[in-house]
Amino acid sequence: MVQTPANSFCAPVPEPATERARRLQPAAGPLPQAGRTMLGRWISLGLPTALLAGWLLAGCSRSDSPLEPVADTFGTWPGGLKEWLQVSDGAWLWRWSADLEPAGRHTGSAVLSVRGERYRWRLNGITAVSDPADLRLTPADTFWLGMQVADLAALSATPPLPRLAIDSPAYPDLVAMLRDLLTPRFDAVVTHWPGSPVPVGSPPAQSGDVDLAACLREAVTLWNTGETEPLFVWTDDAAWGVRLAHYAGSLLRPPLQVQLTRYDADGRPLRMRIAAGDNYSRASARPYAVRGLAHELGHCLFLWGHSPDRTHLLWGAAPPLRADPSLDERRAVRLLQRLPAGLDLHRYGCETDP
Ligand SMILES: [Zn+2]
Repeated sequence: MVQTPANSFCAPVPEPATERARRLQPAAGPLPQAGRTMLGRWISLGLPTALLAGWLLAGCSRSDSPLEPVADTFGTWPGGLKEWLQVSDGAWLWRWSADLEPAGRHTGSAVLSVRGERYRWRLNGITAVSDPADLRLTPADTFWLGMQVADLAALSATPPLPRLAIDSPAYPDLVAMLRDLLTPRFDAVVTHWPGSPVPVGSPPAQSGDVDLAACLREAVTLWNTGETEPLFVWTDDAAWGVRLAHYAGSLLRPPLQVQLTRYDADGRPLRMRIAAGDNYSRASARPYAVRGLAHELGHCLFLWGHSPDRTHLLWGAAPPLRADPSLDERRAVRLLQRLPAGLDLHRYGCETDP
């Protein structure tokens, strides 16, 4: 039985260190292309008009004085992320010059070019253009998230991200929330299932008066409701995905536990198991079983951590107060699906120069 903090509603089960090391190897390749209208995506996600206006009117961050190019770094956003962020040409270019100093630590100006627009940043920590280390890039305004990478190769694989809106006061922005929820199991590294939607199924699982399989199916519907593309699909015959394991006659503590049990040859998660006992066997407990299973399905989307916000389904201090995911949690899942596998979200949000 897994030991659980007394104030924690549920405890996703840890994995052996060797499995963890193998899985954290970056996976190659961008996300598949997605075909939706860009404006519709922003509206459907409820991102504030102010943020969109910030993108369109970000004149305060433009550089009017071209830099003498010392180094250029190109990159492209993955297809789905490109549409989500409304970057029509899908490419960015970093260009900077730095005043090289004998001490080895330097600062300078950097310019990020996106869609023909130029944004001024501050560069810090470049030791030499041919031998960079710990590059810290700080935007001149608060529209973009600051970035820190170890080398140019990492920079070319690190898409610049705007500060995406979030409703919860518990996090400064959406990337910060996603980073926190990914950290406990995945070290804040973007991880994907082999495909989407994620198959979910269960054998017959009657617990007293409560049909746990039906509860899980209801939880699947709660996550899928309102989504343009379903996040889960109910099936009893899938080579990968999520399965319920009912331990009849047992009382589990915590009452529900999710385990990542198998990986594929590329290190991607292949199987998760939600373990349930007979903690919810009375008819009056059925709504709590549905809430708890919906909470576990959030973990099955790799949001492995718990939120400090009691309005979130993934609130961890007590059983969830809601059965459906919050808008923040839906946004976090959609962002995660669009980010490239292997991306370390620790690279973002470094706003202060040393
Ligand atoms: Zn949990």
